Amino acid sequence: MELITMHTHSTFCGHAFNTLEEMVEAASQAGITAMAATEHFPLSPAFKEYSFASMPMSKLHDYAAAVRDVRGRYPHMQILLGCELDWLGENEDRGITPDSFADYDIVLGSVHFIDGWLFNSSRCKDRWTDIDPDEIWERYVDLWCEAAASAMPYTVMAHPDVIKKFGYYPKRAKLSGMYDRMAEAAVAGGRMVEVNTSGKFTACGEYYPSLDLLKRFQQAGVKCTVGTDAHRAEHIARNIREAYAFMHEAGYREVAVPLVGGGVRMMPIE
Ligand SMILES: [Zn+2]
Ligand SMILES: [Zn+2]
Repeated sequence: MELITMHTHSTFCGHAFNTLEEMVEAASQAGITAMAATEHFPLSPAFKEYSFASMPMSKLHDYAAAVRDVRGRYPHMQILLGCELDWLGENEDRGITPDSFADYDIVLGSVHFIDGWLFNSSRCKDRWTDIDPDEIWERYVDLWCEAAASAMPYTVMAHPDVIKKFGYYPKRAKLSGMYDRMAEAAVAGGRMVEVNTSGKFTACGEYYPSLDLLKRFQQAGVKCTVGTDAHRAEHIARNIREAYAFMHEAGYREVAVPLVGGGVRMMPIE
């Protein structure tokens, strides 16, 4: 079966380890046939304390040019120009509209911030010991559902339950009710989701989303793709085959593969 990863980073953002060229070369060596470069879309000056979290605005043009340029050297691969775009809710101050993303083949929709806190960064993780996980999970799901059902041009909702990253789970609220809401919102917005394999290698020890949440998406008819969320070349193809098997276990029989220029092809899981 073909290998794909629709979620990767490079040194264009402040916290990845290999250049775009090195990531593409690693993908080629691993036999990946379709890859999306999905750099963290720039945050505004109001998020200055989190400047490590995204690409600076000054690099946006060079980034797009670099992705287009590298395609010519890897004609055997589909290389999508993409970005990972934070849902900032009421803190959105970038003046972006759906038209701002017309040049991108894929836009990942991500919730990394809850009311100004970058909850999934190891640099900001201490706060987890001071808060009520129930409240934070509820707030996360509210934001995720808002994002999924919004007018933002998200192709794929990334790492749907990344809120579990450090292993903190709600104690009172039931996950099942939250999962139902997330599946409904993904349908309302016409979004795909991804199996993001990076979660397996964090404290929670699981892919994003969990098997139960992925089953909800499958039952609701939400298409699913696969991303490794690689921030280093050696992780470019990590657990892609396992992710296909995981999707199969959740009931999927096809992997969605977003295309250069828009649209999607469906690849049977063998
Ligand atoms: Zn992310
Ligand atoms: Zn990412």
